[in-house]
Amino acid sequence: MIDLLIKNSTLITVNKDREILKNHSIAVKDKKIVDIAENGKLEKKYNGNYKVINGEGKFVFPGLINTHTHLFQTLLKGMGDNMSLEDWFPKMTAPSAVHLKKDDMYAAARLGILETIQSGTTTLVDYMYAHPQPKLSDPVIEGFKELKIRGIFGRGTHNTGQQFGNPEGIIQDIDTIEEDARRLLNEYHNSEDGRIKIWLAPAAIWTNSKKLLKLLWELAQEYNTGLTAHISETPFDRNASQEIHGDSDIKVLENLGLVGPEVLLVHCVHLTDRDKRMIKHYDMKVSHNPVSNMYLASGVSDVPGMIEREIKVSLATDGPASNNSQDMIEVLKSTALLHKVSSMDPTIITAEKVLEMATIDGAKALGMEDEIGSIEIGKKADLFIYNPRLSAKSIPINHPVSTLVYSGSDRCVETVLVDGNIIFDQGKLVTADQEEIITQGQKAADGLAKRAGLEYIKNREWASIAF
Ligand SMILES: [Zn+2]
Repeated sequence: MIDLLIKNSTLITVNKDREILKNHSIAVKDKKIVDIAENGKLEKKYNGNYKVINGEGKFVFPGLINTHTHLFQTLLKGMGDNMSLEDWFPKMTAPSAVHLKKDDMYAAARLGILETIQSGTTTLVDYMYAHPQPKLSDPVIEGFKELKIRGIFGRGTHNTGQQFGNPEGIIQDIDTIEEDARRLLNEYHNSEDGRIKIWLAPAAIWTNSKKLLKLLWELAQEYNTGLTAHISETPFDRNASQEIHGDSDIKVLENLGLVGPEVLLVHCVHLTDRDKRMIKHYDMKVSHNPVSNMYLASGVSDVPGMIEREIKVSLATDGPASNNSQDMIEVLKSTALLHKVSSMDPTIITAEKVLEMATIDGAKALGMEDEIGSIEIGKKADLFIYNPRLSAKSIPINHPVSTLVYSGSDRCVETVLVDGNIIFDQGKLVTADQEEIITQGQKAADGLAKRAGLEYIKNREWASIAF
């Protein structure tokens, strides 16, 4: 017996041979893909009662993997327009972060996860660095549990960096950080049958003392888990690290021994050649956030160069305060276009490579390539069904990968499975009331802007720039 059959579809497997299988079916049982065969064969092989989804005219893609976001920022969409990172953080994001309450976190997480799922994303890494009150992490993890997405929760940390605009309200002492990190690791790491994991996440190298960085590394080793950090997002990151630690952010990690395949470096826009050699040498992974890098005008990461060095580069949205959305389909197109135009070479990156970055390379970045990232027998059934007929944007289809990357729309994401569970179907969440999540999200955003004294941004004058 099986639990579910998706029949007669086109499977974009992203398996080792990168097969695109037309007129094929997938059988799902006990959270996993247990069989793949040509149309008609699996119905004969498996008897009994199981759910059947007709995939005719549709595509099945591996679930997209978003390796970096900040869900609390879901409430801050549109508040950081026209700011550089140096203004965006102290003037908008940080004042909002210090006013966060548990209810805001729950509303932000659920709305952000809904949007994540809507764009065909089945795994996300939330990097939660704002802890102005105790236990603000828990509502995010509650959102993972309730909406049944695969979630990695990075417990973010700061204990220094006030001179560079890091607000007192989110700075914590080491003992408080250790106690809370251990609590989260003990309570949630590998919970929900492994669907939820806890990582350590020093917010930026310059916002963490060396002592704290070493502690986080010890915790990562003790609990056999990952560590992720913002690295060289702008030249400012490197300079602030130089001032505080006497070295660039990435060299600080190397000197302290925070290096290895379980380290995920976010942004990596302003790297030296030596930094790239080091990333490759230690098999560290990279999270590329093209929309955020363009929104904040942070620069262009040398993604083609890193791929050429065989560094594993994954894709991410970054927080909605520096993207204004959580749409991974938009990230696919942005990735391709950014690197083509910045190199003035249309051959530098392909739609297929971009899809790999958002699926199997994302799984590698999280150390989960044996479990997720492709449609293969034995892997977890984390996938989405794409119905191109739901948007004229996706028609005509001449190549399914090109359709998703360049002509893709979240409107065409019809069904999403995580761990074999249908969590989104016919454009609606299965697990919770979508309308309520949207209403609560808007309410929380309005309340937070008021408490943070940022209503002037919502009520700003028309902002055209006169030259
Ligand atoms: Zn970030």
